Amino acid sequence: MKFCCQCGAPVELRIPEGDTIPRHVCVSCQTIHYQNPRMIVGCIAEWDEQVLLCKRAIDPRRGLWTVPAGFMENGETTYQGAVRETLEEANARVEIGMLYALYNIPHINQVYILFRARLLDLDFSAGAETLEVKLFREDEIPWDQIAFATVRNTLTQYYRDRRHGEHKFHMGTIEPIKKI
Ligand SMILES: [Zn+2]
Repeated sequence: MKFCCQCGAPVELRIPEGDTIPRHVCVSCQTIHYQNPRMIVGCIAEWDEQVLLCKRAIDPRRGLWTVPAGFMENGETTYQGAVRETLEEANARVEIGMLYALYNIPHINQVYILFRARLLDLDFSAGAETLEVKLFREDEIPWDQIAFATVRNTLTQYYRDRRHGEHKFHMGTIEPIKKI
């Protein structure tokens, strides 16, 4: 951030009085611009033995597969956001079920929230940010072409749970990939 969105004056990075973390503070109107993690909401949309994946048409990770998910909007609930993202990315209608996975990704200031969901019909198609939408059985999942670690972890847990006959809530933290 370079300029104040309240008055247009430059901002400076400093620790406000009574705070412990550097913030962007406007040099003119003194507004403190707090920045907080962003929530990504989505779902594992199920149809029998299959789950719905979307091939991304946008960066990052264009051309790789993910579950329908995206940034939560103001004024909506997490599950409304998951339904909306599934409609936008896959033109698919779902009924949201249990909260299935929560992943913290502190190094990029994101929190992923994924639900299980029931696909209501097979009338789906690629949305504007998607190249292709397809249902996959476990042995068809393109594991080496999954866009994000959160999604790979969640799908791995999902099939493990299914073999055990019980789906449980999973929480975890994604660490940055260490370059050796
Ligand atoms: Zn200002």
